[in-house]
Amino acid sequence: MPELNLVLLGPPGSGKGTQGERLNADLHLPYYATGDILRGAVRDETELGKTAKQYMDNGELVPDEVIVGVIAERIDSEEAAEGFILDGFPRTTPQAEALDAKLAELGRKVTSVLLIDVTDDEVVRRLGGRRTCEAEGHVYHVEFNPPKVAGICDIDGSPLVVRDDDKPDVIRKRLSTYHEKTEPLVAYYEGTGVLTRVDGVRPPDEVTAELREVLAGISA
Ligand SMILES: [Zn+2]
Repeated sequence: MPELNLVLLGPPGSGKGTQGERLNADLHLPYYATGDILRGAVRDETELGKTAKQYMDNGELVPDEVIVGVIAERIDSEEAAEGFILDGFPRTTPQAEALDAKLAELGRKVTSVLLIDVTDDEVVRRLGGRRTCEAEGHVYHVEFNPPKVAGICDIDGSPLVVRDDDKPDVIRKRLSTYHEKTEPLVAYYEGTGVLTRVDGVRPPDEVTAELREVLAGISA
């Protein structure tokens, strides 16, 4: 099997997390969701967490030198030897260049970039209704995936909250950050010939099916 070094791209609320977890189960590759890694650090009040929190609370991107160090450490590990799935990194062209440089150092490269395309209106609808479990980060939606009991996690019974970065003005800020900083990545990866676009305004199962087809084409 060739290595599968994957990057998931898409606006916040595009379903990257759901798709990343499914690919993680399918492919047995480590799934590195940068947002979860950072939120874990914030919760545990590590040095990284304290630095990152100031930026995340304002809907801004965590600076490159902070995030690049964290990701590089994971990619250069035994568990990622056959490949990995990155979600939430890279988010800017300099980060993509830093990733390429790190991989080149290891004799590797990005195999495929999967862009899950979703409109701004759909993003607002999806994120505005999102509720997250305080204990473990299990995610629900008031409209699409409600818990059995309102406000309570089905899995561990802990309270569901609106994450700071799912609040309306922060959603708008995240979208404008995405358009400004992350969209140039699409052009960057189109240039290296590894980008595939997938329509994300469809049921998650259809998106998963298409992603599997794309990846089957790559590993064949
Ligand atoms: Zn939970």
